[in-house]
Amino acid sequence: MLFTTRWLSSIFTDFNRNTDEPIAIEEVFTDSRVQVKNALFVPIIGENFDGHHYLKQAIANGAVAALWNRETSLPESLPTDFLVFYVDDTIGSLQQLATNYRDEINPIVIGITGSNGKTTTKDLVASMLKEVYETHYTNGNFNNHIGLPLTILSMPRNTQVLVLEMGMSDFGEIDLLSKIATPDHVMITNIGESHIEHLGSREGIKEAKMEITNGMKTDGLVFIDGDEPLLKDIHKQKNCITCGFREDNDVIIQNVDVRLNHTNFQLADGNAYMVPLLGKHHALNAALAIALGERLGVNSERRKNALLSLQQTGMRFEMVRGMNDASIINDAYNASPTSMKAAIDVVKQMDGFVEKVLILGDVLELGEHSEEMHRSVASHIDAPITAILTYGDEAAYISEAVKENNPSLYCSHFHSKEELIYALQPYLKRESLLLFKASRGLQFESFINEIIHP
Ligand code: ATP
Ligand code: MG
Repeated sequence: MLFTTRWLSSIFTDFNRNTDEPIAIEEVFTDSRVQVKNALFVPIIGENFDGHHYLKQAIANGAVAALWNRETSLPESLPTDFLVFYVDDTIGSLQQLATNYRDEINPIVIGITGSNGKTTTKDLVASMLKEVYETHYTNGNFNNHIGLPLTILSMPRNTQVLVLEMGMSDFGEIDLLSKIATPDHVMITNIGESHIEHLGSREGIKEAKMEITNGMKTDGLVFIDGDEPLLKDIHKQKNCITCGFREDNDVIIQNVDVRLNHTNFQLADGNAYMVPLLGKHHALNAALAIALGERLGVNSERRKNALLSLQQTGMRFEMVRGMNDASIINDAYNASPTSMKAAIDVVKQMDGFVEKVLILGDVLELGEHSEEMHRSVASHIDAPITAILTYGDEAAYISEAVKENNPSLYCSHFHSKEELIYALQPYLKRESLLLFKASRGLQFESFINEIIHP
């Protein structure tokens, strides 16, 4: 049980009938199609749909009560015992409810933002804190103004630590999430270029990320990528803990060694770690999780174990076996120029392959910076990369720039998926490593499905 309808009626005081017998609510949900049990339905008015039209379906699927926009009339012939709380705005009320529930349970809250690496770092932090605490954390990518309250409202009552991913595409969004979550400690994984379309510049992106401290409790710690020059001004704050590769960080990462299935690294305190993720940037994400774990009393043996037992959210730099035993990296979940460059660097660092092939697609939402940003990816493309295939309108700029910088490298742009798959055939062999990376909208996973091991 999360709470009872009696507790709800102390927050939302306008309801359709008095109940002597409180009902136990076990779930809160917004998608009427989902099967639930003893749940509170929160209809959302979206761009295309109005959840209020689906109340009957929600009831058939297990809703026992609902929040309800008072401007909307209730459908006829509802079950007589169905309880409705009238509110002015269901999304605002969902957020209000999350705030009250968080106060009621009072866990240690960790808020995580950054342009890249939020989900991975959230998984690393959760893995770390699960070693010692009852830990609840964002499922998948539920990181916005609806997903974050729903995450809070899915935490069991015995939760001791709540780890929340906070995403955004514009100013003010993280501010809202931080005030709902009131984190004890926060993390900024990096400052990249995602959503620069709305935020104007990397400085703007930094300002928007810093909003994560707006709702933070006093004495909270701020864990950051200490190598990012834009975050330099907060280094000296006494509550800031910097992690990175440079010698002036609080947590210094050394001796990174990227293997086929994991990355090894050391911290300057002498501890060696292994994480089942590929790439230098994951040593940074892991270092942030280690630094937090250390402060919250996770000992070094448990910290090492936590990284090893990471359960990752899918399609992020996942190794899969392709036709003829080619090695394929599926990084089709999302992309930004920073994460694309980081992924290319990882491919360059990996030993044991004769062919290293990049299949790169558009990075979306870069607005007027798109051409420049795509061209900048090409600066990371050189030996030992052996071929580059691009797909999508914007990714054509990557090809263009590669041809200018490095005319001897095989590089080709494709307009059709079929032609691209055909061109890949010669590379499908045991000695090849292929990286697939593009924004989610390009659906690169469907390309990978065509060349996966049958
Ligand atoms: P989203 O905005 O989609 O929620 P996210 O911030 O949650 O993304 P992840 O899903 O963890 O990020 O990773 C997305 C991509 O960023 C992956 O390709 C990953 O390899 C890359 N990445 C992860 N951490 C970093 C980092 N610290 N710096 C640069 N790139 C990174
Ligand atoms: Mg994410």
